[in-house]
Amino acid sequence: MNSALEIFSIGIGPSSSHTIGPMKAANNFINSLYTTNQLNLVSSLKISLYGSLALTGDGHGTIMAIINGLCGNIPKTITKNDFLKCYFSVVANKKINLQNTKEINFDLNKDILLLKPKCLPQHPNGMRFEAFTNDTLISTADFFSIGGGFVVSATEINNAVVLPTSAKVPFPFNSGKQLFNLCAQNNLTIAELIFKNELSYKNKNQIHSEIFDIANVMYNSIQAGIAANDILPGSLKIRKRAKALYDKLQQTAAANSSEHYRSLAMTYAIAVNEENASFGKVVTAPTNGAAGTIPAVLEYYKLLNHGISDDKLIEFILTAAAIGMLYKLGASISAAEVGCQGEIGVASSMAAGALAAVLGGDLIQIEKAAEIAMEHSLGMTCDPVAGLVQIPCIERNALAVGRAIDACNLALLEHKPGIVSLDDIIKTMLQTGRDMAIHYKETSLGGLAVNIINC
Ligand code: SF4
Repeated sequence: MNSALEIFSIGIGPSSSHTIGPMKAANNFINSLYTTNQLNLVSSLKISLYGSLALTGDGHGTIMAIINGLCGNIPKTITKNDFLKCYFSVVANKKINLQNTKEINFDLNKDILLLKPKCLPQHPNGMRFEAFTNDTLISTADFFSIGGGFVVSATEINNAVVLPTSAKVPFPFNSGKQLFNLCAQNNLTIAELIFKNELSYKNKNQIHSEIFDIANVMYNSIQAGIAANDILPGSLKIRKRAKALYDKLQQTAAANSSEHYRSLAMTYAIAVNEENASFGKVVTAPTNGAAGTIPAVLEYYKLLNHGISDDKLIEFILTAAAIGMLYKLGASISAAEVGCQGEIGVASSMAAGALAAVLGGDLIQIEKAAEIAMEHSLGMTCDPVAGLVQIPCIERNALAVGRAIDACNLALLEHKPGIVSLDDIIKTMLQTGRDMAIHYKETSLGGLAVNIINC
């Protein structure tokens, strides 16, 4: 990872690791065939999904995403309608137009294999793409979706070039301690330091425009979510709740109290994640399943302060990005590796730290807010019912909003460093994730996934 803002990417739901990552991987494979002049030679494809992608890929839209990626579609620009249209056209016609250039026969029941008991050795979210001319293999590549929509090749994951601290930036860091020391030594806030690092990749206007784009998509996903009350896609047939909750909150007498704002923010988190579950456009923050927490906490700040200045918005997003980067560098944001603590737990931690920053917290308080939010998310498992990013995911984002606000408020009451550092908690989260049984790591083989009857 280079730019800290890469932790926030714009794409469609429902899953960054199981939808956005596979779409990018499919796209990368087809692009490699194109650039090596092999695309026109392809007569058939075989795509094998391993581990968590095989176990929950159906519910997480993985197959739809791969088909879209093969057709040349990109997560950031594809619309929900075009995404669905592309998938259903391939299903109906049993033909696929690779990168909108080369049409071949394609039967997804035969050409995409869900190898459920198997796992590639490097990562639980593995994919193998193979292209054939008649029956002769002409190209093959393995990709790994490592969380948050990030995809790496077999070479990259084998050489562990996934987690660089770029020497290109003026303030490189690998840990919270290094980040906070650099801020203190240079008299910079976290957001100011990250901004200076970002200038190594983009100019000031590009950074601002990227942040405003992220904030706009976050806001739009809330608006789309509170306007819809149809049924969520998938076998559970759950009616969306955000609109009804929002309407109810509009009628309460307690408007303009912080408690009311908190309830509204929780509703906004539900709205974003209902939009995510419906193939809507969201910002991975740091993943799609956790996409609602940070936008909702940002809205909470806006409600408390009757809006937000551009400077505060930039401070919020860059502080959250820095904290997310620490988790990505020191642990993982992939539920297949560390459970939901790595997704919604990290989102809550990022949101708590960012909220503390914009509310005037110092470095100690920001670290403490982020640390508290994760300390009380440790051990959170990933057990999505029916493999869908709905239960417990949607409501869990709302609870993570509450935890972020509480962690921030608690941290702002004190000025002394806590016994537990953010680095301690990141290390603990990784160890806890490694100790967690595979059943609880995005496989739908345990927890709620096996105790809720899907009728
Ligand atoms: S339980 Fe958490 S980690 Fe698992 S799919 Fe849902 S949001 Fe993602």
